[in-house]
Amino acid sequence: MSEELHQVAPVPGGRRADLRADCERCFALCCVAPAFSASADFAIDKDAGQPCPNLQADFRCAIHDRLRPQGFPGCAVFDCFGAGQKVAQHTFDGQDWRSAPRIAAQMFEVFPIMRQLHELLWHLSEALTLPPARPLHGELRLALDETERLSQGSPDDLADLDVAAHRQRGNALLVEASELARAGVRRRRIDHRGADLIGWHLKGADLRGANLRGARLIGANLAGADLRSADLTGVDLRGADLSGADLSDSIFLTQSQLDAATGDSATTLPPSVTRPAHWPASRPAPQGPRRQAGSRRSRAGS
Ligand code: SF4
Repeated sequence: MSEELHQVAPVPGGRRADLRADCERCFALCCVAPAFSASADFAIDKDAGQPCPNLQADFRCAIHDRLRPQGFPGCAVFDCFGAGQKVAQHTFDGQDWRSAPRIAAQMFEVFPIMRQLHELLWHLSEALTLPPARPLHGELRLALDETERLSQGSPDDLADLDVAAHRQRGNALLVEASELARAGVRRRRIDHRGADLIGWHLKGADLRGANLRGARLIGANLAGADLRSADLTGVDLRGADLSGADLSDSIFLTQSQLDAATGDSATTLPPSVTRPAHWPASRPAPQGPRRQAGSRRSRAGS
């Protein structure tokens, strides 16, 4: 779905190379299976299981090169972590929902389950690259192998899987890995887990080693912020300004989160993600007074 994700980049961290979306080997499952609600992310309402009206007969998007201006930024940033091609090519053995409509309902049911498994595989693989998490590597490998085994299941196996319970077990390990990885750099124990930081002014903030899991940083000004070793699991970065920010050693950052934010050539990224194509080469010159949203809260990370 994402125009950025069609460019499959090499991924450090071994098995994560298989966890990139490969739309050419999928049957546009993300354009059919989920429901859309008309919003800033999607220009239309669409029921689950109904093909998007922009989807062509060849499973390509008619507005692929202009998703954002046409009101579909949610498509531009979506990442299936390789679940689409796994369901299409492995679970359903290359059959597609158009020519085999009898499998369509189960294919659409299985796709979001597979996506959750693949997202967990992505994060477990990253945790295995964190040297301070070495004491957990044995458990992480077991969890990775079990998650991979589950993802190889039949359509019925996957449909019956309690994926929420499995994710919960995996997440507990990831939290432990994050604690270990941040222990040496966390100087002030900044903890914004699940916090509502929408529009906050965090320009230049020292957020090294911060716990930001699940925080909502929509539209936040993080320009020049130091996010090294910060845990960014599930952080909502839509519209956040990451210009000049340092995310070089940030933990559990995904391409989708990055694609939803803005940044520039001075933003420093970890090697597992690529600079979004829509980011400007450098920050545009300021035009008049800059609105500092939520500036009364500017001490959040300082
Ligand atoms: S706009 Fe394009 S990418 Fe988005 S759901 Fe529709 S067909 Fe898919």
